[in-house]
Amino acid sequence: MALSPTQMERYSRQLLLKEIGGAGQTRLLQARVVVVGAGGLGSPAACYLAAAGVGQLILADDDRVELSNLQRQILHTTDRIGQAKTDSAAQALQALNPDVQVIPFTQRVTQETVDGLVQQGDLLLDGSDNFATRYLLNAACFRAGKPLVSAAVLGFEGQLSVFRHGVDNTAPCYQCLYPHPPAPEATPTCRSAGVLGAVTGILGAWQAAEAIKALLGVGDSLAGSLLLVNVLHGQIQRIRITKNPDCPLCGAGSG
Ligand SMILES: [Zn+2]
Repeated sequence: MALSPTQMERYSRQLLLKEIGGAGQTRLLQARVVVVGAGGLGSPAACYLAAAGVGQLILADDDRVELSNLQRQILHTTDRIGQAKTDSAAQALQALNPDVQVIPFTQRVTQETVDGLVQQGDLLLDGSDNFATRYLLNAACFRAGKPLVSAAVLGFEGQLSVFRHGVDNTAPCYQCLYPHPPAPEATPTCRSAGVLGAVTGILGAWQAAEAIKALLGVGDSLAGSLLLVNVLHGQIQRIRITKNPDCPLCGAGSG
């Protein structure tokens, strides 16, 4: 697939990067990424993936745009309050880059729908805001053999990792790190404890970068590492994580 003159101009700044170039750009244009959540993480992630020319974005969200979303969910606008987030996001992303096909998935991610969703992408980017969805996506990526770019934010802090447990059976998964979901009443959420919009921007943009690296097979993946970011104190930590032999999903006794 040859790039058109318009595409040569649109992507010129990343065509200059030796890690991307014409071959990498063609690969991005043919790639499919599932983004779960068109919210605080999904907004910047989907914007940067669309801007970079990732050919197909499958966007999963069943919420509607609310006024209190706009402090961080930069895909949406004041005049789109009340619209389905997937519709609002599709409008924003299509306006940003008509090369990109946005496929809305306006349903809840459940045990019944998750496998069909994960099948649609080459990799999955988790921008969900709850533990139930994170565990569902982690298990579905394991079954489908797809990489999972995961992040979570709260307050001024965030964490990020890439899980390649579906692709590489020596790699840890989300559940190796957190074997059991916490009780919902014991976990603070952005709704109950707050979050700085810029923090979701940093983590979501970093997820997009990890997704692009994984699609192109360049750089050092965060797989096997957990990145802990504290924006309030200006600190970043990268810690090693390993496969947990007792993991309920991918451990030796789980088969
Ligand atoms: Zn595991």
